[in-house]
Amino acid sequence: MAEADFDNSAIEALPPLKELVASLDMRARKSLGQNFLFDLNLTRRIARSAINLNGTTIEVGPGPGGLTRALLLEGAENVIAVEKDFRAATVLDSLLTAAGSRLQLVEGDALKTQLWEMGSAPRRIIANLPYNIATTLLIQWLGQAQAFESMTLMFQREVAERITAQPGSSAYGRLSILTGWIADAAILFDIPPDAFVPAPKVTSSVVQIRPLPAPRFECDRKALEEVTRLAFGQRRKMLRVSLKPLGGEAMLEAVGIDPQCRPQDLDIGAFCKLARRLG
Ligand code: SAM
Repeated sequence: MAEADFDNSAIEALPPLKELVASLDMRARKSLGQNFLFDLNLTRRIARSAINLNGTTIEVGPGPGGLTRALLLEGAENVIAVEKDFRAATVLDSLLTAAGSRLQLVEGDALKTQLWEMGSAPRRIIANLPYNIATTLLIQWLGQAQAFESMTLMFQREVAERITAQPGSSAYGRLSILTGWIADAAILFDIPPDAFVPAPKVTSSVVQIRPLPAPRFECDRKALEEVTRLAFGQRRKMLRVSLKPLGGEAMLEAVGIDPQCRPQDLDIGAFCKLARRLG
């Protein structure tokens, strides 16, 4: 559905986010990974990065609602926002009223929430993620990748590079393989620290993840998680050493992989061969 299909005048009439947050005193908490975005031009740019906004848009950690506002203004049909910090409900109150049935706030922990069952398809996740749990959340959602049309997620630049890295590069690792096995992933753009309140120490990147209709190579996901955990747990060691608990040299030779290889030398297909020996 396009932006023009909704009357956004009540949302546009809300006071600027910064004012609202100051009046309600929602100070950022480090323990919850809170770095807020108040610049509506920026949050609207993130919202526009989604492939489309029909069906269900799930936002993890709306906080004071900068990205939530942007999603609604850009035409999201139905936003479900999952937030652990109960203080957010007070700040979001006026947005909830202005958005009516298009916005639902779920107070809870995203780590314990089955996002893949929320709302109806097509379903996507868009979030400025709390950095302390961002990769745990991503791995959890990749386990249900087919439930999502896309994931548009903000990470620290260094994590974004690990998600999108190719074999042979220093950033290539478990996260690149678990993502690349089931999805296409690309860094869309960077956001500098001074765009956030409070400013984090590092640059952030918006990553677009588009699940494939089926995994690139056949194998059991849990087995792939286990092989990559062992291989990259000691990334400087040869695979015959790091994969010893799974059969080491004999196992590698059985699938035609040089036991002297290091994990960053193997592509996703090779890791899937190894995972098939386990799964
Ligand atoms: N979306 C807001 C923005 O862009 O300004 C806030 C983003 S801030 C980086 C991360 C948000 O995730 C915070 O609002 C924080 O309270 C929330 N959060 C942290 N841990 C969470 C969890 N386990 N489940 C749900 N929300 C969580």
